[in-house]
Amino acid sequence: MTRISVKDLAFSYRPGEEVLKGITLDFDGRSTAIIGQNGSGKTTFVKLLKGLLKPTRGEIHILGRPVSEMTAAALAPYIGLVFQNPNDQIFKSTVLDEVMFGPLNIGVDPKRAKEKALHALQMVGLAERAAENPQDLSLSEKKLVCIASIVAMEPEILILDEPTIAQDHAGTATVRRVIGRLKEQGKLVMTIIHDMDFVAENFERVIILHRGTVLADGDPREIFSRRELLERAGLGVPHITRLGWSLGRTKTYLTEAEFIRSMRG
Ligand code: ADP
Repeated sequence: MTRISVKDLAFSYRPGEEVLKGITLDFDGRSTAIIGQNGSGKTTFVKLLKGLLKPTRGEIHILGRPVSEMTAAALAPYIGLVFQNPNDQIFKSTVLDEVMFGPLNIGVDPKRAKEKALHALQMVGLAERAAENPQDLSLSEKKLVCIASIVAMEPEILILDEPTIAQDHAGTATVRRVIGRLKEQGKLVMTIIHDMDFVAENFERVIILHRGTVLADGDPREIFSRRELLERAGLGVPHITRLGWSLGRTKTYLTEAEFIRSMRG
């Protein structure tokens, strides 16, 4: 089933300077990572999906509904976006209030909103911090609070902008677990991300944006094995994969864990 349909989508912040140049893509249920060098248009693209920017050309449908005819508030129950910087999102004085805000805002009654918020906080391992001021948490924890805020609204589509940046090891493991749970629940999970190992291990589809166009779209391991393509997109091959190739261990993409296993074997 198509959850998001994007047709000939173009966007300019300034007249004559197209940041997205006519993108056509369908998103089904497959978890999808959007990668590309800085300035390639990733954040602009997800803001358009969320209805925070208006296309200069083209159309977006979310679950069959035209985004152009919906307010951001009307879209909120269907699609959630977690910003890269938690300070752009957090504004309440307790963690619980912060996570309850989304469900309350879409009309969930306070008792249910609290249950959903506590459940989401449990999922990110922060239920015990519910009474604290989010500003007292670490950056890693604040990012998890922002993820919980969106999870608590139970949208069909969740977009995470760089969820693993500024995460410590435990935080990254939590993000991986949360994404796994959301996938099990049948949600469409999309992320903007730079960590190729994380993509190869957790996502079913990768889209490379390059200068406002789609340069590649497909299976992450297949795409990450195409050195010339990655170099054209300004991404390069991770050191560990390059090392695996030069040692003749493989010709395809290797995550760090796979590289270590191949050295032992
Ligand atoms: P990415 O997320 O891939 O780094 P962005 O979507 O943030 O890319 O940016 C794409 C292009 O749009 C860049 O050239 C950036 O400088 C420009 N841009 C982003 N936001 C704005 C803005 N608010 N006003 C003007 N230009 C912007």
